[in-house]
Amino acid sequence: MNIKFNHALNDIKIYEAGKPIELVVREFGIDAKDVVKLASNENPKGVSPKVAQAIATNAYKAYLYPDDSMFELKAALAKKYAVNTDNIIIGAGSDQVLEFVSRAVLDDKSSVLMSGITFAMYEIYAKQMGAKVYKTANYRHLYDEFMEAYTMYHPKIVYICTPNNPTGDATLKSEVIRLIEAIKKDTVIVVDGAYMEYAVAKDEQYRITPLDLLAYDNVIYLGTFSKAYGLGGMRVGYGIANQEFIHELYKMRPPFNITTLSLLAAIEAMKDEVFVEESVALHLQEIKRYEAFAKERNIEYIESYTNFITYLFNEKRNATEISNALLGRGVIIRNLASYGLNGVRITVGTAEQNSIFFRHFDDVTSNN
Ligand code: PMP
Repeated sequence: MNIKFNHALNDIKIYEAGKPIELVVREFGIDAKDVVKLASNENPKGVSPKVAQAIATNAYKAYLYPDDSMFELKAALAKKYAVNTDNIIIGAGSDQVLEFVSRAVLDDKSSVLMSGITFAMYEIYAKQMGAKVYKTANYRHLYDEFMEAYTMYHPKIVYICTPNNPTGDATLKSEVIRLIEAIKKDTVIVVDGAYMEYAVAKDEQYRITPLDLLAYDNVIYLGTFSKAYGLGGMRVGYGIANQEFIHELYKMRPPFNITTLSLLAAIEAMKDEVFVEESVALHLQEIKRYEAFAKERNIEYIESYTNFITYLFNEKRNATEISNALLGRGVIIRNLASYGLNGVRITVGTAEQNSIFFRHFDDVTSNN
């Protein structure tokens, strides 16, 4: 290959997404209906029936570009969060908003700071810009560790992922505010609340709203429709920040960056908050089974504030072997070896899916 790619790419590891159902069908000849996918933190209740109906009824609109102003969706979000529409930018997933922030702020002289184990795209987007990536020692967002690294490196972006992926832990609102207050106003702070709906249902002390953060003009809050709202496949997320900040991000946005049907689905999903509440309630009930299952088998787990749970194995169990054995049985979970952990992340599924997971897990680990 004679092409000289951007040298910033040398240092980038390609993002490893949760394995799709199609792969298991292809590689193991398992029927798609027998595959249990607990790998990508999707909503096990699926799509709200009202949203599915709206998508079906409007399928004929697929030939039309979406309303590029995305006014209706922004108005619904503005109402929900008591902010203005010009505080909001919509992305193809909150992933795309992360990309906008990275491109708008970073260059090859800058650096970013994040917790020791966190959402991999922060690092990838930063490296694309040639920026240096610093991580704290802990996966938890600890004030002292962050401030020590912040003082040493003066990063241009600090990422706070709460609740955190792939670990499931969350940071108290009071601690997030303490960090924001301590960090200089020329540093962008990204507060990624992709799983916030699950955290607040468990404990109000973790609730961080975009309105809380608008008091600081260097902070952006990210939210998504991919998890509790059941729309992972539609790719809709959002960023909420000071209007001048959002204005700059708009310079990075391609036109029509989400699809006509995605836009419509997100608008409909916001009208069906009952579905979100039911999804979270199901999750809170089912995750208890994962905690009990782990305790009975002496498996360490991280207390979760998300829709997944992270099991950490001791040397008697091997995360890669277990994930592969489960895959061969049509159960997809996330091996955390690429994060340097001998552990797995399991999206909490429906009662039936979880029972299948438990059964197969015991089977594949029976000789341990
Ligand atoms: N942030 C976190 C912490 C995530 O876990 C994810 C999805 N895995 C995202 C952002 C991106 O989600 P989406 O692009 O689907 O909105």
